[in-house]
Amino acid sequence: MSFARAYKCMACGHEKEYRNNETVYVCEKCGQNLEIIYDYAEAAKAINRKSLADNTDMSLWRYSALYPLENGTMRTPLQAGWTPLYKAERLGRKFGHEKVWIKDEGRNPSGSFKDRAGSIALSAAIERKAKRIAGASTGNAGSSMACLCASVGISPVIFVPCKAPKAKIAQLLLYGAKVIAVNGTYDQAFDLCHDACEKYGWFNRNTGYNPLTREGKKSCSMEICEQMGWEVPDWVIVPVGDGNIISGIWKGFLDLYRTGLTDRLPKLCAVQSEKSNAVKKSIEASSISDIKIVNIEASTIADSISVDLPRDGIGAVKAVIESKGVCIEVSDEKILEAIRTAAETTGVFTEPAGATSIAGFEKLAASGILKENETAVCLATGNGLKDIDSALKAAGSPILIEPSVENLQGII
Ligand SMILES: *Cc1c(COP(=O)(O)O)cnc(C)c1O
Ligand SMILES: [Zn+2]
Repeated sequence: MSFARAYKCMACGHEKEYRNNETVYVCEKCGQNLEIIYDYAEAAKAINRKSLADNTDMSLWRYSALYPLENGTMRTPLQAGWTPLYKAERLGRKFGHEKVWIKDEGRNPSGSFKDRAGSIALSAAIERKAKRIAGASTGNAGSSMACLCASVGISPVIFVPCKAPKAKIAQLLLYGAKVIAVNGTYDQAFDLCHDACEKYGWFNRNTGYNPLTREGKKSCSMEICEQMGWEVPDWVIVPVGDGNIISGIWKGFLDLYRTGLTDRLPKLCAVQSEKSNAVKKSIEASSISDIKIVNIEASTIADSISVDLPRDGIGAVKAVIESKGVCIEVSDEKILEAIRTAAETTGVFTEPAGATSIAGFEKLAASGILKENETAVCLATGNGLKDIDSALKAAGSPILIEPSVENLQGII
C-alpha cells in the first residue's frame, strides 16, 4: 500500500488526488511540475528509526514506505542506493575544513545517481502497465534507465545528444536500449522525447517532468541521515543541471522531517559550472513567492550538468531558498582540477559533474559561508570512468621509460 496522497503543483499549489496505477506528469491547471505528498502520519507508522535499524535491505528500497508504489510491484534486482558515505579527512585538510564527507554515487548499478530515479520510475511504469518506457538524457539518466530495464528484460527508448560521452553511449547500446542519437542538444532531445511519448503513448521518464524522478532521488538524503547516525548534516553540496537532484535531496530531508525521523533540515549548496548556470541566474531573478526560470546557452565540459533550461528549475530554486542555502558557480578548470583532488585525497574517481561538488566545497569553505563547526556532505554524482576524455585532461601523462631497472634512477 502506498501512503501517497496527492500531486501538488510546484508553481501554483493546485492539488490532484493520487491514484494507484494512474500516470500523471504535470499540473492540469498550469502545466508545471508536480511533487508527490504523502499521509505522513500514516507513513510514520510504517517507517521509523527502529524499523530501519532492523531492516536488512541495503538499497534504496529501505524507504519504500515513502515511495508512490504499491507493495509487491516488480523491482530491479540490481542494488541501487545505499552507496558509501566516506569521511574525507585529507580532502578536508586540503581546504581547511575537516568536517566533510563524500557520498560515492558512482557505485550505483549504472555508475550514477540517476539509478535512484530510474529504479522508482521503472517500478511505477510496470505498475501503471506502460506500453514502453522512454526518456531523454545527457547520458546518465538514459544509461541508468537502460541498465535497470535490462535487469527485468525490458528495452526502453532513449534520446541522447549525439555528442554524449562515448562510455555512456556504449552503456546504452550494450544494455539493449533503442538509442536515438539526436543531432542537437540535450534540451532538444528532451522535447523530442516528450513529443514522441505523446504521439505513441509511451511512459515518459524525463527528469522533473515525471514527478517520480524526484521521489527516487530523495532516497540519497535518507541514506545520508541514517549513515551519519541520524545527525542531519549542516550542508549538502550538490551538482546542479536540471535541478532535479537538488530538488530530490530537499524533498528527502523534508519527508524525513515530516515523518518525524529527523528534527532539523540542512542548508543546500547548489553548484553549477559558470558555463551552465541557469539555476544560479534563476535564483538571482527570483524570490520565494515569485520564481522565474532563466534559459541560457550551456557549454560546460561537465556534460551531465550541461542544460539550457533547467527542467526542475522551480524545485531547484525552492530547495536553495527554502533551505537558506546558496548557489555558487565554478569554472570548468576548477571542475577538472577537482576530479584529481577527489581521486587523490579520497580514492573516489568521479566524472566532471560529480567533481563539481568538490570544487564547490573548496569555494564554500574559502568563502567563510561554511562555518568551522559545520558538517558538509559532497555528492560525487557519477563514476569517473564515464568520461575518460575529460578525466585525461586532468590526469596528465605517465613517465615513459625503457624496460630496465636502471632507468628508474633519479625518477622514483
Ligand atoms: C544528472 C546528473 C547531475 C545533475 O542532476 P540534475 O538533476 O540535472 O541537476 C549531476 N551529476 C551527474 C553525474 C548527473 O548524471
Ligand atoms: Zn499548477
